[in-house]
Amino acid sequence: MSKGTILSGMRPTGKLHMGHMSVLENWVKMQSEYNCYFMVADWHALSTEYSDPTGIREKTVDMVIDWLTVGIDPEQSVIFVQSDIKEHAELHLLFSMITPLSWLERVPTYKEQLIQLGEQGKDINTYGFLGYPLLQAADILVYKATAVPVGEDQLPHLELTREVARRFNHLFGTKVFPEPKSIVGKVSLLPGVDGRKMSKSYGNFINIAAATDEVSTQVRAMITDPARIHKTDPGHPDVCTVHTYHTLYNKGDVGNIAESCRAGSVGCVACKKALAEKLEGFLLPMREKRAQLERNPGYIDELLAEGAKKARAVASDVMAEVRTTMKMV
Ligand code: SF4
Repeated sequence: MSKGTILSGMRPTGKLHMGHMSVLENWVKMQSEYNCYFMVADWHALSTEYSDPTGIREKTVDMVIDWLTVGIDPEQSVIFVQSDIKEHAELHLLFSMITPLSWLERVPTYKEQLIQLGEQGKDINTYGFLGYPLLQAADILVYKATAVPVGEDQLPHLELTREVARRFNHLFGTKVFPEPKSIVGKVSLLPGVDGRKMSKSYGNFINIAAATDEVSTQVRAMITDPARIHKTDPGHPDVCTVHTYHTLYNKGDVGNIAESCRAGSVGCVACKKALAEKLEGFLLPMREKRAQLERNPGYIDELLAEGAKKARAVASDVMAEVRTTMKMV
């Protein structure tokens, strides 16, 4: 049986943080099970950042380096930049002719984000922002992806893709497009150092590429049990951010740590030091791989050009089929 095809992507945001690890670990696993296309979604970035597109290229390189350091393998997967493959734009345009406006207006995140980003001073009352779920449909279907890894909040977007595929197939009496299924990934359990969701905008993140002293500084800043004043006070690890990190990155010792915390026999300083050492051990190989990749500045450009070649070969075949189906040739 042939492998299925996966399309997934991220907007170019520069260096990634540890909150991205759960998505990236899913990608790494999927590489052996599917034909994977991993896309730098630079056109999507423009849907909200059109007024200041500076640095997209540098952010792309930084992000792709992180993909490689966690184990995305360009020999196994196709890694490319969305805007290098013009077929995405053509299919988006053709889909825009057949998609009722109401389908886009009812995407639940549309109105929420208009308000949310409006409060941050961004005017996204644009056709591009309304239409970006349709651009996503084109991104996915131009490779005939059979599955898409998504978070729960993106399920309505994928449903739109499935509806567009159905409508196209029905209108033109064809089976050109599959209806991709969702693979709902694990939600990241990793909070930011202040206990809130890890996010660049909160400044509460630890980068995958963070240097040793940055890791220590961020671990020292982590919120612990607020009721614990003295080292000998019995602690409550369940409300402590440091403990959450031990659960994920110090599995062998987390039971002992929780017990010692409850008994008041370990101090928060020592507990944080132990965590910083574990994180250092986890991040070091990725930091070393980044240093090695950065010594060869042209490598990422070559890799993306190679990825674009492979992606274009597939996308152009699918577009030829679409144009024939729509009697445009
Ligand atoms: S000892 Fe560790 S787990 Fe307990 S409150 Fe302090 S940092 Fe948290």
